[in-house]
Amino acid sequence: MRMAQIGATPKGGCNRQALTDEDKAGRDLFCRWAREAGCTVTIDEIGNVFAMRPGAAPGATPVLMGSHLDTQATGGRFDGVYGVMAGLEVVRTLNDNGIVTRRPVEIASWTNEEGCRFVPAMLGSGVVAGAFDLQYAYERVDKEGRKLGEELSRIGYLGSAPARARPFHAMFEAHIEQGPILEQSATTIGVVTGIQGAYWLDVILDGEACHAGPTPMGLRRDPWRAATAIIDSAFALAEGHAPWGRATIGDIKASPGARNTVPNRLVVSVDLRHPQRDTLEAMMAAFKCNVVNSASRARIDSRVEQVWFMPPTSFDTGLVELVDAAASALGYSRTRLVSGAGHDSLYTAQFAPTTMIFVPCAGGLSHNEAEAATPADLAAGANVLLQVVVAAANG
Ligand SMILES: [Zn+2]
Repeated sequence: MRMAQIGATPKGGCNRQALTDEDKAGRDLFCRWAREAGCTVTIDEIGNVFAMRPGAAPGATPVLMGSHLDTQATGGRFDGVYGVMAGLEVVRTLNDNGIVTRRPVEIASWTNEEGCRFVPAMLGSGVVAGAFDLQYAYERVDKEGRKLGEELSRIGYLGSAPARARPFHAMFEAHIEQGPILEQSATTIGVVTGIQGAYWLDVILDGEACHAGPTPMGLRRDPWRAATAIIDSAFALAEGHAPWGRATIGDIKASPGARNTVPNRLVVSVDLRHPQRDTLEAMMAAFKCNVVNSASRARIDSRVEQVWFMPPTSFDTGLVELVDAAASALGYSRTRLVSGAGHDSLYTAQFAPTTMIFVPCAGGLSHNEAEAATPADLAAGANVLLQVVVAAANG
């Protein structure tokens, strides 16, 4: 709640976008708390902050936890911030109880996870994973034309540690679920097995423009006749791969876009998701087939363009079991689920064994100023984090 005062919005949320003065203040506060807790703070070349609590074994690879401190413009108090604060609470609890772990324990606060000021999202962890190169990251510009690299330097967080992967024994990210499943099933802990993969597609349907009055229905080449069938088939595909299949039609553009003209072109944006690679590929293949069939029935030319592909992420099975066992030993109700949203863990999973711990949030709301979570649920997630970090750090 102290962190949430930085960039607090009138509706009870947070506006602490990446590399703003508010982000600097949040980072400064976290670094102060981490140093007070005996951690050594290191900043890397993309501004990721690592707070390290030493372990007993010299040279042992560290256990990492953490998330991000930046928020959406109309963000909440918990998205990301919870994972960093839970990490700090783990370190303080180890200190309070005089526990020395064999491996060092580190808290990471990744730069620009949200991607609202600088696109793309998850940039800090993505650079470390090698998904983006450093120069590309520095050149990202916000709406006012300010470069990410210059903003990093302006707020004093252009560090010198290499923004490259180094060995980690394990990585845990505690996070609010950002969806309704835990709350609706009155479950305290989400044991997260992976992150959904996604295809972003543009379906381009070309017919023939004509006057809405004089042209008989049977003589039209109306791209909508194909689009409605394609959209229905996308929903059926997602429902046919329940519970994790998803299909979203986020946008449709009609050209020329006049009330009394059959459009000659529709561009339909499609977002298809599933956590298993082979199922996602099967959904994609079936979807493309539906496009071709629906278009030819409507005498429409069709084309599917791939805008983006995010492969599904499977978390480390050993760490997933560890989280499950810890939640069980602590007596918390738990369920296995898949993250529908991207997280820094998507990239850390590419260079370290990784998993996540979810806790419920009110109404499943996130990226919303009304985002909320109960102290009891947040404490439960932090307790699970503590147990798995200690187990991993002594393993
Ligand atoms: Zn987040």
